Amino acid sequence: MSRPYLPFARPTLDEATVAGVADVLRTGWITSGPQVKAFESALSAYHGDRPVRVVSSATAALEIALQLCNIGAGDEVITPAQTFFAAPNMILKVGATPVFVDVERATRNLDLAQVEARITARTRAIMPTHFAGLPVDMDALYALARRRGLRVIEDAALAIGSSWKGRRVGSFGDICVFSFHPNKNITSIEGGALVVDSEAEAQRIDMLRFHGIERLEDGTRDCVFAGGKFNLPNVNARIGVAQLQQLDAFNARRKALVAHYFAHLRTDPPCELPHRGHEGDEAGHSWNMFAPLLPLERMGIDRKQFRDALETRGIGTGVSYEAAHLTSAYRRLGYRRGDLPHTEHIGETTVTLPLFPSMTEADVERVCAACAEVLATA
Ligand SMILES: *Cc1c(COP(=O)(O)O)cnc(C)c1O
Repeated sequence: MSRPYLPFARPTLDEATVAGVADVLRTGWITSGPQVKAFESALSAYHGDRPVRVVSSATAALEIALQLCNIGAGDEVITPAQTFFAAPNMILKVGATPVFVDVERATRNLDLAQVEARITARTRAIMPTHFAGLPVDMDALYALARRRGLRVIEDAALAIGSSWKGRRVGSFGDICVFSFHPNKNITSIEGGALVVDSEAEAQRIDMLRFHGIERLEDGTRDCVFAGGKFNLPNVNARIGVAQLQQLDAFNARRKALVAHYFAHLRTDPPCELPHRGHEGDEAGHSWNMFAPLLPLERMGIDRKQFRDALETRGIGTGVSYEAAHLTSAYRRLGYRRGDLPHTEHIGETTVTLPLFPSMTEADVERVCAACAEVLATA
């Protein structure tokens, strides 16, 4: 019996969204314009009316955020190594040095005690990741940043709709970056956003995302600096507008599916299950991924063989994330195996199981049964 292939992530795009895109295409105004404004104001309303700008990806947004903070050569930015490469890459790209810290084993979020220990006279910012939608301890993060005079650039690519003690991630703090890649909780195909704390910074983003151009009163343009080109097209923004309206429903569905995983994922030997959310604040987790750690030392097969066995059963999996400090680009900075034990353990044992709003409870049970079967015979 062959069952439909279950990818580990899949966007939910309804017919109204498809029709909305067709409408935008028919207007002829397909690159940035009114749909971008509409998407930005909807995102702003969702995040406590703070200034928002959308760009072509979260990676672009992280680069712009660093430029907004005037971070460059000679500066250091502290970031976890258990994150997507985009964060350290953009730090390196603007000429600064990423300083990796380990994550906490349970939350997989950066260990703030280690952040404090790595602050030097060159440190300019902290770039934390809210892993899989579980917020970093925001009280401790911002208390530390304030005490040490550091900017905070939150990589909230996985955390749209997450909250900390009832306050939405992005509705407070310094700079917050979201992603609208198809694997995230809402999508615009590709796309990203920055939420900032002042209208002046938002206006600087207007220039950073579009050639460093300033529009003059006489109808001509001044090029103030050599800016990049990271604007989001109207077509993408139209998808984003439709998706944002469904975000809370998508996230509620993710939570229900995750509860089903917790109830049904029983393997022998057992996997280490993900953190369930901060105690008393479990609702603040937006569950972009469900990623247990495999009991590799008790298995006769490796992760590749485990993933292949699921693939054979029509189930897709992912790895989020490989330890960034052990990749070629960052070994060059002198990082070695053993430097960040939790990051390395998670990087070696993590496997992302299917989770997306249009999955069914039966799909979750199918994944759980497959995991149990593969581990029992391994
Ligand atoms: C997906 C992701 C990014 C990059 O997002 P893009 O929109 O693809 O550039 C950055 N950081 C984290 C933690 C991510 O998961």
